[in-house]
Amino acid sequence: MPSPTGAGMAAPVPKPRARYTIDRNLQNLQRSFTESVSVDEPDVNSRPEVPSEETDNPLNGRHDAVTESAGVGSRQPLLSSSASIDDYTSDSSDDVPLKPQEPVSVQQPNSTSTANESQTGNPQHGNDPVPTLVLTKPVKTKKPRAATIRVSRRKSSAAGPGAALPDTNRRESAVSRSGWLDVWKSRKHNVLWTTFDGQLMSLWKKRTDKFTEHVFHVSSITNVKQQDKGRFSIYFRKKHFEFMANTDAVQEGWVTSLHASRGREAPPLPQHHGPLTMKEPRSKVYAAICGHNLWIYNSKEDFNLGLGMTLVSMNVASVKQTGRHGFSLITPYKSFNFSADSSKDQTTWLNQLNEVIRSALSCSEVALRLWASPWNKVCADCGSSNPEWASINLLVVICEACAGVHRSIGTSRSKVRSLKLDSKIWTEPLIKLFIIYGNKASNNVWGHNVPAAEQILPDAGQEERDAFIKAKYCSGLYRKTHPLISNQTLLNQRLCEVVCGVDVEETLCLLCSGAKVLTDPQSPSAISIAENAGQALQTELLRHNEFIEAPTCNQQKQDPKQIGLEELHGKLEDERFLFSLENESAACDVLDLREVISIFNLSSGQTHEFEALTLMDSLCCTADAQDSLLSHMLHIIRVVMPGPLLDEELDGVLAVSRLFLREGGGLQHAEVWATLRPGEMLIYPTLPNTPCSVIPLKKNTHYSLHSQENTIELTAAEQTMYLQFERDQSCSSWFNLLPKAVSSKRRGIQRSLYMLPVGLSGSVPPELERCISHITLYGLKVEGLYRRCGTGTKINQLVKDLHSAPAETVLGTGELDIVDVAGTFKQLLRQMDELIPTPQRPDWAKAAAAALETDRLQQYRRLVSKLDPDNRATLAALCGHLYIVQLHSQVNRMTAHNLAVVFVPTLFQELAMNTDMVRLTKELIIHHTLVFLSHPEAVEDEIITVF
Ligand SMILES: [Zn+2]
Repeated sequence: MPSPTGAGMAAPVPKPRARYTIDRNLQNLQRSFTESVSVDEPDVNSRPEVPSEETDNPLNGRHDAVTESAGVGSRQPLLSSSASIDDYTSDSSDDVPLKPQEPVSVQQPNSTSTANESQTGNPQHGNDPVPTLVLTKPVKTKKPRAATIRVSRRKSSAAGPGAALPDTNRRESAVSRSGWLDVWKSRKHNVLWTTFDGQLMSLWKKRTDKFTEHVFHVSSITNVKQQDKGRFSIYFRKKHFEFMANTDAVQEGWVTSLHASRGREAPPLPQHHGPLTMKEPRSKVYAAICGHNLWIYNSKEDFNLGLGMTLVSMNVASVKQTGRHGFSLITPYKSFNFSADSSKDQTTWLNQLNEVIRSALSCSEVALRLWASPWNKVCADCGSSNPEWASINLLVVICEACAGVHRSIGTSRSKVRSLKLDSKIWTEPLIKLFIIYGNKASNNVWGHNVPAAEQILPDAGQEERDAFIKAKYCSGLYRKTHPLISNQTLLNQRLCEVVCGVDVEETLCLLCSGAKVLTDPQSPSAISIAENAGQALQTELLRHNEFIEAPTCNQQKQDPKQIGLEELHGKLEDERFLFSLENESAACDVLDLREVISIFNLSSGQTHEFEALTLMDSLCCTADAQDSLLSHMLHIIRVVMPGPLLDEELDGVLAVSRLFLREGGGLQHAEVWATLRPGEMLIYPTLPNTPCSVIPLKKNTHYSLHSQENTIELTAAEQTMYLQFERDQSCSSWFNLLPKAVSSKRRGIQRSLYMLPVGLSGSVPPELERCISHITLYGLKVEGLYRRCGTGTKINQLVKDLHSAPAETVLGTGELDIVDVAGTFKQLLRQMDELIPTPQRPDWAKAAAAALETDRLQQYRRLVSKLDPDNRATLAALCGHLYIVQLHSQVNRMTAHNLAVVFVPTLFQELAMNTDMVRLTKELIIHHTLVFLSHPEAVEDEIITVF
């Protein structure tokens, strides 16, 4: 990738321009320089990375072929999905490479074997392969629009220092750094995301990749040379890498960091090493077990030079023997298949790897569990990664250096324990406290107002570290105090109230403001109150804070708002916002749009304004006209939201946020994206290809705000859900916009909970539509749905009611009610005057008997086109609905085959015993989009490509 100064490179293509006012702290002026700024001409018409992005998702292995092709358009209620707390760590929204659309080359032939990409486009088909072209919605591509918009940006420390400060926020002096760099290795050019932690330099294709393209320890470097034009070289004994940064300042930073890390001790010698053959793609590699990692090298020469391709951490891996000489190393993200030269070698590798896995696991179980929360993956005080210590009263996970300072301030302030060594202290409630609250909650309280200038970094000196940690925990300079802080009695009383409930964060805030666990010996202590209330987590937290001293009052600094206003210009470009000082001048800052977590349309009357929030900043954008506002806003929304979106889905959109959704009494959180529109809320699971669900909002929709937890409780369509936001600002904006959404009518066409293929005329009887919508909304998880018989009398009554007043009929949502509705649906279908008319049935039977699937599908299409429009629409709606039902077959046990067996008598009466007809019905379900597509001639080719 050329730099802005690179010679002979394509000039930037004019892009929409906008002016920005950036309200920032001067300290941060340089911050985003580590992000390289592309002047490649971006391919605005495509986002080719989208599919491969899925390979970043550790869950990838979990969605099968059926979900793989779930129609983007299919609507279904609520999070069906298996999203769990683990998913928290798989933040696929974070990023796709900013970049290299077309790396000038060329990766090494075997380097793909280490990258996740090897799985791309290779869905594992199950027993019911589904054509992968079924896209019933026309999907618009994302294009930045030309428009001018004013933006003011406020940097905030809301996320706190534990919030995994984006690497770009690190100061130039930091040893650890990251950014996109142009990389040449023996003339092969690539643009790679490069990170350096003071020891390892790692080069990745994408920021979210789990496995590197290249990785080496700083001790393998023989020399680092600074060159001109932002370039620098890193030498190894026989090879070298060339790098190019987009500015001299960035280059300077890298060189300084690399020089500063010279003299680091080399990692321990490998316990075992030797040649292996890697499969898929087949290539000879050299591997070494070093500490708790398996390093993979291109060749023995690279091994000797210390120039690795990638390393696999054994504490997430398991190993399995495969075949005579082979073995697989299985990680949550990818499996590596190797074969050894002999069965003796195979045995040695298996034994060695198993040994390492055992030892890696035994010493890090607590650490692994705590690190499951990304906030705990970095030191709460300085941000260095994989911290192995904790202060169990403050509820922070910290690095060794910070732990030293914590020890020095005494156990009356901080009780320091090791995650790996102090195994006894780690009770289940304590571990839960750290997983659920930990660094995130604690920094919300103790690090509430850390000025950027005072925040320390992993390379902070002893004095600086000392001062910061003392200011933070001894003086409480940055803490968020409780509103009752000025009255000790009320503070203590409040503590006794709060510990009876689940709000641990308020307890933290109270403790940090000086609420006493032990007060009057005559009255029960907060600990026994919490214990009696059955609050195990509160009890545990109080126990560790029994004799702790809190900082005294009045030492707190006011939130320092250092304002440095700057008028900047910016342009929207694919997934980035580029900022520059002058219009059309070189970019001086960049925002990866994928960092945006919330967008709000704040327009009213003549003002056209929207706000975009990242974890750190807020951007307030005002435009002169609604059009330009929308084009910018929708562009950002399309970049951040998972999957393609219809224009219709974004019509009138008021708010878009990433949030955690909890439904009903269940405690499972799932990360979703939600949009708020007039009259409805749409929930988009973050798993790829999972359909979104629609929550209608009406005047009687109840919602309330739990501001302590950044949560909105919402009761709509007979269900209660909790929306928990990452920032309090997102939460309050939603709360402010909800009245607007609730009071306005749904716009556009009334949507049903299923999609008819585009262009299909004809209509579905309202009573059937009602049943489909109801079952889609409430019944997908009912085991044996459609197979179980309902109560005859109830069904007859429902049939009667639905015929006379389909919209008003009350349909229950309990499991038995759903079974009745399903029975009603079948009965209504049977009562329809021959959905497939008797005279045509022999043709269907003939089609069903064809030997080739392609032939059968083509004949089905022909037969479907002969049906009258209403019957065709009804059959399409039925099959589309059953398609959705079988997507949930893991829960409801109704596979496409089971559903076909149930529905074949309804559709074909006397032919029901014919096994061909069962297959036909099953094929209608699985291939419904293809069969009911309205333009037969348009898909002939595709049919062929599918099978
Ligand atoms: Zn630290």
